[in-house]
Amino acid sequence: MREFSPKRRAFAALLGGKVDRPPVTSLAGCGGTVNVDIQKATGIMFPEAHKDPEKMAKLAIAAYEMTGIENVRVPFDFVIEPEAMGCKIKWPDNPALVPATLEHIYKKPEDLKMPENLLEAGRIPVLLEAIRILRKEVGDFLPISSLALGPFTLAGELVGTAELMMMIMRNPENVKKFVEFSTEFIIEFSKAQYRAGADIVQIGEPTASGDLISPKMFQEFVKPALTRVADELKGIRLLHICGNATPMIKDMVECGYDGISIEEAVDISKVKPIVGEVKILGNVSSKGHMVMGTPDQVKEETLKALDAGVDLLEPGCGISLPAPLDNVKAMVEALKEWSAKRK
Ligand SMILES: [Zn+2]
Repeated sequence: MREFSPKRRAFAALLGGKVDRPPVTSLAGCGGTVNVDIQKATGIMFPEAHKDPEKMAKLAIAAYEMTGIENVRVPFDFVIEPEAMGCKIKWPDNPALVPATLEHIYKKPEDLKMPENLLEAGRIPVLLEAIRILRKEVGDFLPISSLALGPFTLAGELVGTAELMMMIMRNPENVKKFVEFSTEFIIEFSKAQYRAGADIVQIGEPTASGDLISPKMFQEFVKPALTRVADELKGIRLLHICGNATPMIKDMVECGYDGISIEEAVDISKVKPIVGEVKILGNVSSKGHMVMGTPDQVKEETLKALDAGVDLLEPGCGISLPAPLDNVKAMVEALKEWSAKRK
């Protein structure tokens, strides 16, 4: 089979077509494709790269060039939505740290009000412009993925995650109202990302991890909202949940996304039989050997994921900022060696 372009390969893998080999991408996950080494090599550093569309796009392209990971991905942070809703953001002056919501300003659902011109709020225009630049720069060669928070995670950013967890016990109706509001926000925000030129929108829902909530809570508070987002978005969309998502895999699959992104805590060979047509992205550990181990240890993990039948090879939660470049490259090399043996 002729060699595919990365974009054709990722689309084919996600939509159930034939591929020349599995893609090695970082389309989904909380981290992106950028690490500290890439920031230093390009001189485009956090936090400036979060605020300037040209710098954001340049850094995303440099990550592809330096790692061989076959996509570009923006944004690099997780707080565009709460910032657009007026929450104060902490901007660490450190390339190994991402911005975080400093103050969760909402107490009750009645206080929530959609910004009048949502797509002009906060850094949303910066992200949309970065996607437009990427669209021009990468043409049809690389897939562009972008990110919106899952409705449950956004609700947690608005009200505070600990408070949201308490609210589940004390006032579940209010949780639903926060999640419903967040769902409307996410749908409009995600649609704008496709219009700007994103090929794939990832819905990142770390607060719905099996480490934080039970499968029953997932079914009651998260699944209906995620399903509505998937129904509304007409482009390729992915769902990422961190940690041990094993107990909710069936529910994740039923939400209707093209692919689910999972970490190493999930045993791919065990969940493969229950995902049906839905594709699996992952699950090389983002924070384990990729950060602390050697290239050989990363290669070993990579082969395990490939042998277990992963559809798109990715670091389970994106590239961690402190991960050494050689470890990231080891994942790409291992995939190519594995594929060459199968030709
Ligand atoms: Zn994650």
